[in-house]
Amino acid sequence: MRIDHLGIAVASIDESLAFYRDALGLEVAGRETVEDQGVNVCMLPVGTSRVELLEPTGPETPVGKFLAKRGPGIHHICYRVDDIHAALARFKAAGARLIDDVPRVGAGGHLVAFVHPSATGGVLVEISQEAGPEHTAHPTQGDNS
Ligand code: ZN
Repeated sequence: MRIDHLGIAVASIDESLAFYRDALGLEVAGRETVEDQGVNVCMLPVGTSRVELLEPTGPETPVGKFLAKRGPGIHHICYRVDDIHAALARFKAAGARLIDDVPRVGAGGHLVAFVHPSATGGVLVEISQEAGPEHTAHPTQGDNS
């Protein structure tokens, strides 16, 4: 396992790049809009991890509501797992409150699921599994190791 990325909620990706790209020196690996989450995403690799800048497409989106309530800052931490279905089964067995009972497709086409902050010490946790042919062929099954 490793930290896949740190999600940081920002009001403007372009303004945030003045720090993350120009001052810190990270390179922009890609930008995309995840429509069903109402968020513009900008990925900046840091070693084997990434910073994920999250800019809401409107106020009535998850990140838009986060910004209104808490302001800019760390939004979530994403752990890369080999088997997202097995990880979700372990979380359920442990009684952890989940936001996603089943994985969905997130930025980059990866399978992702979110765990409620009440289960994680107050931090929204995302788990992610690399999207590959062996993983996307049967996204609802658990035997994709
Ligand atoms: Zn994320």
